[in-house]
Amino acid sequence: MECRYYQRLENGKVECQLCPHHCHIADGKTGICRSRRNCGGVLISEVYAKPCALAIDPVEKKPLYHFHSGTTCLSIACTGCNFRCLNCQNYDISQVSPEQVDYYKLNPEEVVTLCKKHHCPGIAYTYTEPLTYIEYIIDCARLAHEAGLWNILVTAGYVCKKPLADLLPYLDAANVDLKSFSDDIYLRVSGGHLQPVLDTILAMKDAGVWVEITNLIIPGVNDDMDMIRQMCRWLSDNGFANSPLHFSRFFPRYKMQEIPPTPLPTLKAAKQVAEEEGIKYVYLGNVV
Ligand code: SF4
Ligand code: SF4
Repeated sequence: MECRYYQRLENGKVECQLCPHHCHIADGKTGICRSRRNCGGVLISEVYAKPCALAIDPVEKKPLYHFHSGTTCLSIACTGCNFRCLNCQNYDISQVSPEQVDYYKLNPEEVVTLCKKHHCPGIAYTYTEPLTYIEYIIDCARLAHEAGLWNILVTAGYVCKKPLADLLPYLDAANVDLKSFSDDIYLRVSGGHLQPVLDTILAMKDAGVWVEITNLIIPGVNDDMDMIRQMCRWLSDNGFANSPLHFSRFFPRYKMQEIPPTPLPTLKAAKQVAEEEGIKYVYLGNVV
């Protein structure tokens, strides 16, 4: 499937304009997300209609706590991510190329049919970074809406404004992973920047998408309470006081094996800070 959001450059390269990396991709190569390849000057999404993971989940697992609680969704994921988080829980599908894992062949019509067959009221695009296969999401999400199904995005939110604007009319809810409130930490831990994520959160809210925020607290990395306070104040000041905020507990994963799990007092301190800053619904995740 030919990608949207790119332009041809000199010397056979193309520039992908889907996310702020703006990868310049030589012929035969892929961008940072590993799933968009320059094939003779045409940018191809190599994961279109090739999900590597399918499951039925409670919406609370996304996590979405204030969006049709008690219902399920058909979770779907293709390989790839435009971040490189050192703590990635799903690195086996997010940090690989499409050909390195098994996948299903499922066109958008079949995704909707599968969702209805399992009596799920919605589809969740999740587990990896769904925005890196936005063409597939848009096609699935449009058909899902026509069939009366919801569309849920679970994302780190690193995307350019135009593609996001094209997707927003089809989104009903999103959980956005706000990894820290520091550009330096974003760069060191995930290989990206903070501001585009904030822009995504604001654009979702402006478009009427139900937004919940997740902040995974990693000891010694992003557990500074002053920074957490700044993040909560930004959320409060920008109209997210009624949006659930999920502080999630870190466990050693991937390239962060030496860091211990987040102490419970740290999570409780963050919750208190958030409540002091006016966030009304603060939840602690991964604590049982
Ligand atoms: S979506 Fe992928 S190929 Fe496109 S700019 Fe982002 S990382 Fe690069
Ligand atoms: S954004 Fe999510 S899927 Fe991507 S590397 Fe980070 S934790 Fe993994």
